[in-house]
Amino acid sequence: MNDGRSYDVGVVGTGPAGLAAALALARPGLRVAAIGPAPSSRDTRTAALFAGSVTLLENLGVGDVCRSAGEAIYGIRIIDDMGALLRAPEVTFTAAEAGLERFGYNVPNAALVEALRIRAGEVPTLTLIDASVAEVIPGPEEAEVHLGDGRRLTVRLVVGADGRQSLCRRAAGIAARTWAYEQSALTCTFTHQRPHGGISTEFHRPAGPFTVVPSPGRSSSLVWVERPDVAARLASLEEAAFRSALEERLQGLLGAVETIGPRGVFPLSGLSADVAGRNRIALVGEAVHVIPPIGAQGLNLGLRDAACIADCVADALAAGGDIGAPGVIEAYGRMRHADIASRIWTIDLLNRSLLSSAPPVQALRGLGLHILKTLGPVRRMAIREGLGPSFITPRLMQAPVEGHGTSP
Ligand SMILES: Cc1cc2nc3c(=O)[nH]c(=O)nc-3n(C[C@H](O)[C@H](O)[C@H](O)COP(=O)(O)OP(=O)(O)OC[C@H]3O[C@@H](n4cnc5c(N)ncnc54)[C@H](O)[C@@H]3O)c2cc1C
Repeated sequence: MNDGRSYDVGVVGTGPAGLAAALALARPGLRVAAIGPAPSSRDTRTAALFAGSVTLLENLGVGDVCRSAGEAIYGIRIIDDMGALLRAPEVTFTAAEAGLERFGYNVPNAALVEALRIRAGEVPTLTLIDASVAEVIPGPEEAEVHLGDGRRLTVRLVVGADGRQSLCRRAAGIAARTWAYEQSALTCTFTHQRPHGGISTEFHRPAGPFTVVPSPGRSSSLVWVERPDVAARLASLEEAAFRSALEERLQGLLGAVETIGPRGVFPLSGLSADVAGRNRIALVGEAVHVIPPIGAQGLNLGLRDAACIADCVADALAAGGDIGAPGVIEAYGRMRHADIASRIWTIDLLNRSLLSSAPPVQALRGLGLHILKTLGPVRRMAIREGLGPSFITPRLMQAPVEGHGTSP
């Protein structure tokens, strides 16, 4: 019986990556404490989640949220809107050409977190603790987790899912490289006259991408990247003025814009931790990588972290070893390195290629889109790599596993 103070795993941070990690780690019956403040304000973001992420959610017993609150994505269209004399061709990737029924689902972050929290409450070996963590002290045999309310827990493994300002990252002694972009993303969901047809559209513009992603019915979610001052001004516009600015950008794609939901503004930045774990602490989600919202990579990467740490811990358990031992953390770091580094590099390059007005950079970008449009094999490879790395698929992201959901 648990005394309420010692657990096998302490997951710090109960955003989507942390909750998914907690549920994945509780599957083999480990005693898991997931610690973080309950969400206070509603996240206006949605996340396009690809097939591997959807399979993970199915395996954790929350796959229904994709269908009940989200919308299927069948295609991804890229439109060159750089205003250059020579316009690059429009490129559309379809799920069918990659042999898939759909790319995945676009799911509101708030609905996803709520579904994960409900599921966490149903798993007897998982304890959800609504509190902040004030300190993490790693030791040779276990780690101490000090909560803001004075309680202390001991755990064998800490999973740091506490976002970009991660206290766990500092406690592990892991340095991170951070950088800022002169860009902010304005987000909201809106309804419109014409159907989106399940196609997500990304306009490539000099200030950054302007993306509309299918949401249920005739609605879409918007990620509009602009210079920070422009994004702030757009966010403060009266609804009618914002509607006409949005319609102008959409160039008639979705017909008249009707109702517009609450707007949010997210300054864009990047972060790359030197390693994904050390000293009994494994980092997942934005604690280890932050990338701009281009190509819908951030949370898909965070969910792969969650599934991979679960694999490493399951392997350690099967071998009868210590789940927080250096070898386990190192294996996790090796498993994540190439995936994280390649996504950070590609998305940064793509974003900077939009911001650069240098003719050779624009010519290369245009050439890239030409190649993607005309060469089927290259396009199919780009689709496969965009959906997830070909070199690694954690077990919980493979076909639905037996038991379907976290076993009680
Ligand atoms: C505009 C925009 C659009 C995006 N679209 C997509 C998309 O389409 N697809 C995609 O895959 N990704 C997308 N992303 C990225 C995605 O939103 C993030 O990767 C994801 O939300 C990060 O989740 P997380 O759980 O790692 O971090 P967070 O959601 O930041 O969670 C961290 C949690 O840790 C808690 N915490 C912090 N400190 C402590 C502490 N000391 N003690 C306890 N708890 C603590 C916080 O309260 C929070 O709950 C987008 C991002 C943006 C900005």
